[in-house]
Amino acid sequence: MKCLARWDDLKRLLTQLKARGHALHGPRLKGGALVVDEIGSLDDLPAGWTDTQQPGSYRLRGHPENLAFGWHPGADSWKRLLLPSQSTIWEARRTASGFEAIPSRNDFPFMAFLGMRACDVAGMLRLDTVFGLRGGHPTRPGPRPSTCIDPAYAARRERAFVVGIQCIEAGGNCFCGSVGTGPRIGTGCDLVLTELPGERESCFLLESLSRAGAEILEALALPGAHEEEIRRAARLVEACASSMPRFLDASGIRELLERQWENRRWDETAGRCLTCGNCTMVCPTCFCSDILDETDLEGLTARRTRVWDSCFSLEFTYVHGGGNVRSSAKARYRQWMAHKLATWLDQFGEMGCVGCGRCITWCPAGIDITEEAAVIRRSDGAHAPSAEEKCHVRP
Ligand code: SF4
Ligand code: SF4
Repeated sequence: MKCLARWDDLKRLLTQLKARGHALHGPRLKGGALVVDEIGSLDDLPAGWTDTQQPGSYRLRGHPENLAFGWHPGADSWKRLLLPSQSTIWEARRTASGFEAIPSRNDFPFMAFLGMRACDVAGMLRLDTVFGLRGGHPTRPGPRPSTCIDPAYAARRERAFVVGIQCIEAGGNCFCGSVGTGPRIGTGCDLVLTELPGERESCFLLESLSRAGAEILEALALPGAHEEEIRRAARLVEACASSMPRFLDASGIRELLERQWENRRWDETAGRCLTCGNCTMVCPTCFCSDILDETDLEGLTARRTRVWDSCFSLEFTYVHGGGNVRSSAKARYRQWMAHKLATWLDQFGEMGCVGCGRCITWCPAGIDITEEAAVIRRSDGAHAPSAEEKCHVRP
């Protein structure tokens, strides 16, 4: 179902979602950047704002044409809402006869995500795969056993209503077009919105991709979209795709990185990388976590907590009695990039990078994953591995 909406209709959409019990979330201005946060109304979204993004740089500015949805992926991704940075797995308290479980305080609210870009929708679908919602391992297709589904992630995801926005202008570090994740949104959302700029004000093409989305559109009783408006939206999205400032050549990248495991570029980049882990924190697909077990000082309560971890932290590969497997910055940067672009394919059948550009923007050293891949590709063939390198065991 495709409808045409005005700004006031979008307000009614939010009212509908609220009435159905969804807590509204969207990007909003905070501390000089856009962050995903709870919003009260459409007015909390950063209409009229855009940003300039470069490697290691982010600046907000007014949108020259005052577009309502002219902004790009901001300082954090939506994964925080589906996979909180810290969550309790279980708690227990001491009793006279031993321990008893404290009933879970995990409540999984109904949420509505407003303004998810194509790259972030793709990122969410990657997480769905990781946490078992999209069938089995690529080499073992078919439904996963329920024991392989993350119940907390699944509960949050099931309760999320997603309104995606197709980009009509690319951000400074975007490259979703070259990794096949955007800017068009074909799946993963309940509703998809495309802004159609007008002389005085924009109107919006709204399309439903799910039954829940279609129900909301029906309830809003919006006029149907004409063919010309639908074609215009497609043209705007296509023009955005062809104006992407960055490009990642993904052809044969798994084999390329496998061949170039000892390329000297890894050493050069390691000289710049601070191993701060910013890139993993902002990435919509990085999902690694650690498990913390704590007791209070009296030994009366115990808690197990899941917290985000990063392959850039030294402790990430600590093996009891054996030290850290990836002790150098080179080993850690190489692991991260090769996982995103190569070994993720072995694990999940698709790349772990969706081209949002956040790791480029928020890297304090301005390290650009597309440039790293391009430099390594250019030197492919120029670098003949030594016998020692050929026998190299991956750290
Ligand atoms: S690549 Fe950049 S963001 Fe990632 S760990 Fe290194 S310095 Fe930090
Ligand atoms: S690796 Fe970088 S560009 Fe790719 S999805 Fe993660 S943050 Fe975005």
